[in-house]
Order: sequence, then C-alpha cells, then structure tokens
Amino acid sequence: MAAPSLPPRGARRALIVGSGISGLAAALSLHRAGWEPLVIERAPERRTGGYFVRFNGAGYTAAERLGILDSLPDRRDPDSRMFEVDSRGRFTPGLAFPRQLNGTPMRMLLRSDLERALYEAVHDLVEIRYGTGPAAITQDRGGVTATLTDGSVESAELLVGADGIHSTVRSLVFGPEDLYRRDFDHVVAACVMDTPLPGMREGDSVVATAPGRSAWINSYRDHPPVAFLLYCTPWPAAEIRKEPADALREAFADFGGDVVPAMLDAMDRSESVLFDQVSQIRLNRWSQGRVVLLGDSAWCMTLHSGQGSGMGIAGAELLARLLTEPGSMPAALGTWEQKLRPLVTRHQKEALRMQHFFMPANRLGYHARRGFIRATNTPVGSKLAQFIMN
Ligand SMILES: Cc1cc2nc3c(=O)[nH]c(=O)nc-3n(C[C@H](O)[C@H](O)[C@H](O)COP(=O)(O)OP(=O)(O)OC[C@H]3O[C@@H](n4cnc5c(N)ncnc54)[C@H](O)[C@@H]3O)c2cc1C
Repeated sequence: MAAPSLPPRGARRALIVGSGISGLAAALSLHRAGWEPLVIERAPERRTGGYFVRFNGAGYTAAERLGILDSLPDRRDPDSRMFEVDSRGRFTPGLAFPRQLNGTPMRMLLRSDLERALYEAVHDLVEIRYGTGPAAITQDRGGVTATLTDGSVESAELLVGADGIHSTVRSLVFGPEDLYRRDFDHVVAACVMDTPLPGMREGDSVVATAPGRSAWINSYRDHPPVAFLLYCTPWPAAEIRKEPADALREAFADFGGDVVPAMLDAMDRSESVLFDQVSQIRLNRWSQGRVVLLGDSAWCMTLHSGQGSGMGIAGAELLARLLTEPGSMPAALGTWEQKLRPLVTRHQKEALRMQHFFMPANRLGYHARRGFIRATNTPVGSKLAQFIMN
C-alpha cells in the first residue's frame, strides 16, 4: 500500500488535541502553512496563571520566526536579585541567570505569557473548542478520525497530540503511559503566592536547598511571586496520592528558616497547586501514520531542563515547515523526528544532570552546588559559568 501523501494546500485539516503552548504553537504554525486546524481542549476554558519559565534556544528562534517575540518581554529588571538562604536563615547572593543561554538571548517569562502570546496570534484564525477531548482514534489511508468525549466525530488529515505528559492521544494510539514514563525520585509542588515574602521586594528570588529538598521563590516584574518546592521520595507515585498540604508539611518540616513556612501557608490558601511527580517521557517513535505527538506528550524533559516550553514551540514550527514540502506524510514526519530528536535527547540528558543543581542529592552535592554559586559571583567564575551553560 502506498504511503499517505500530503493533501494539497488549502484542503488540509489538522485536529490538535490540547491548547497548551505546544498545541497553540502547532495551530499557529500549521495555519500559516496553509492548514485548517481545529484545537480541542479538555479544560472548560482557557488556562491562565502558572510558573516562571526560562525561554531561550530553539524555542526562542522559533518564536522569532512565528513573529510572537515582541509580545514576550523579559520580566527581569536590571536590579532583579537572586538569593540563597542557608540552614540558619542567612541570605547570600545566588546564581544570576545569564542573559544569553543555548546560543540565544534568554528571557524570563510566565508560562501563561507564552500561552497568551500564542493564543492572541491564533484565536481569530483557528477554532478552539473547550471541554472535550478524544475518546477513540482510528485511522486509514484516507485520514484520521477522532470520536470526542462530547459524542461528536472529527476527521482530519493529521492529528497532533499536544495534550501534555499524561497524554490521552499517546495512550489511545501508542499504548499505556507506564511504557513511556521514566520517573525521577522527585515530587514537585508549585503555586502563585498571594503575598510576597516579608522583606522581599519585586524582582527578588530566594532559594533554599538541602540534600533531598529545595524551595524556590521566583519574583519578577508585574506578577506575584511563584513558589515551587521539590523533594526526594522513593515512592513518588504513592506520594502524589496524598493530600498535598499534608505531604508537603511532612517533607519540609524544620527546613528553610522563615521562607518555607511562608510558602507552605501560601500553598494552603491557594486554589491551584501543582502537585505531581517529576518524570520524563521517552518514546522510540513520535508518530504513527497520521498521528503525531508534540511537546510534553512526546518528550517531556522535566522542569530541570528549562527547555520544555521552547521545544514545544520549536517542534511545532518545524513540523509545519516540513509539512508544506512535497512528499508523503510519513516522510515529512520522519524527517521532522530525525531533525528534532538529537536536540530533545540532549536536553533530556541535561535534565538528568541539572536535577542535582535544583535539588542536591546528598551533602557532597549540596556543598558542590554552594561552591559553584559562590564562584559564579566572582568575575572569572561568572564568565566560566556562562561558557559552561552555553
Ligand atoms: C515547575 C515547572 C517549571 C518549568 N520551568 C520551565 C522552564 O524554565 N523553561 C521551559 O521551557 N519549560 C519549563 N517547564 C516545562 C514547560 O512548562 C512544559 O514543558 C510545557 O508547558 C509543556 O507544554 P505542552 O503544551 O506540551 O503541555 P501542557 O502544558 O501540559 O498542555 C497540555 C494541554 O492539553 C490539555 N489536555 C490534556 N489532556 C487532554 C485531553 N485528553 N483532551 C484535550 N485536551 C487535553 C491540557 O488541559 C493542557 O491545556 C516547567 C515545568 C514545570 C512543571
């Protein structure tokens, strides 16, 4: 049987599952490439809020190509400060994130800045249907058909599964999540704080670490601080079934001076706390026929890589470019994967190394991390750090 060929320009329908960064980037890129995308999103309405993300590298370049970079101003001020707090509650200078990383300038954004910029660029051009998702997916030479949870049926030439780490598209087409999820022995919790930390001014960020635990408060321009906590546990899957408030108070007892209790109180009051295990997704193939996975559903790298949002946008932009070239659909998807996989693999490996920076595993790691940060606060050390990080 001949491979399904790419439909002629103007008659290409794409069903995109998920309206996160990857799904919206796919909608924008495919629309620009002459496709007619339909986005379906399980949540009843548009998501807002979220944590801070570092934005640089391939995602930055793709955002520039898509023309959304001007809507993404860096939230750091020149006088933004980063502190480390030690076990006695003393504040010392922390690691200043570089202005240049992975070969491009680096911006500090909210995840929702990216979602908003993409949404604003695409919502007049593409239908986004909320409150539904796929219940079944079938495909043949002619196309792919999804039966949705609201009972409707949608057919398209291409289905993009951009539905995040716990992807339904992946489960329906590629098999159960357990086959592809590689768990770290970490749990992460994050929320937007309703009050700043006493003594902290806008633009101040504070980090407290100990072996197996770390607490971060990031604060940048025009937004309340965002708190996130990481801790080590041998049974992360069991841990996240606990009540977040109980699990966090148990894990962070007697830790972080006044900083961590204030974060825990903010988490108690917050109506929206992210509480999940930290895992990567690894698949040998990101497409099957006319179904392709994109972003966290295909290659979740964890927060440690600092590249998840960027690679969702870079992957979407490249996919649309390759799908405009003449040839068969499998050939275009194969080339896409061939070009993207080395970068994804590199970032996944980096995440394995960077986990020790975010949360040292033992006392040796803790002291190595502190030594590194102290060195980066010297002129020579900061140049060396810049070199290593690029
Ligand atoms: C604490 C933290 C810090 C991070 N820091 C950084 C950073 O510094 N830099 C960086 O680049 N990345 C960072 N990341 C990673 C980054 O946020 C993610 O990689 C990125 O948001 C993934 O986007 P996505 O669109 O692929 O998936 P998601 O954001 O998970 O979006 C998936 C969408 O699909 C929807 N959906 C799910 N299931 C269905 C269904 N069945 N049907 C329909 N819709 C569905 C969801 O509601 C959601 O809207 C961080 C992540 C965390 C948790």
